[in-house]
Amino acid sequence: MSETRTGLGVDSHRLAAGRPLILGGVEFESEVGLDGHSDADVLTHAVIDALLGAAALGDIGSHFPDTDERWRGADSIDLLSKVAGMLIGGGFEVVNVDATVIIEQPKIGPRREEIVERIAGALGVEASRVNVKATTAEQIGAFGRGEGAGAVAVATLRTS
Ligand code: MG
Repeated sequence: MSETRTGLGVDSHRLAAGRPLILGGVEFESEVGLDGHSDADVLTHAVIDALLGAAALGDIGSHFPDTDERWRGADSIDLLSKVAGMLIGGGFEVVNVDATVIIEQPKIGPRREEIVERIAGALGVEASRVNVKATTAEQIGAFGRGEGAGAVAVATLRTS
């Protein structure tokens, strides 16, 4: 019997000088970038956790631990491709992914389509199944002061 399942992903990373700012596999021009063991692509990490959550396959840390040298500087879009493989192996099909990145600057809007294409490409689905949004924190709290950025994602899967 076909089943529909939903998962949630939440992530945050510090912004630091001398790091690239990569969101959804797209590099932005910025004096600060996201800090972490991998490329710290906060948006892709939230999407990965939403997908793993929907499939009841644990979380990003259990599959790609930050204590493992294999994942140092990892391209998170590659990790997303690996997760897509796990989903296919588990008999899941991606119905849709919706994600919001929370960052004061730069503006994400002009490159939104590029991000959607990157995520959809890694998942092997049509771009119409992926939606990406961005918001600022209205200068409130740590994200609002530009100390970091966050992302939230939901994913829906269907079993065949
Ligand atoms: Mg992360």
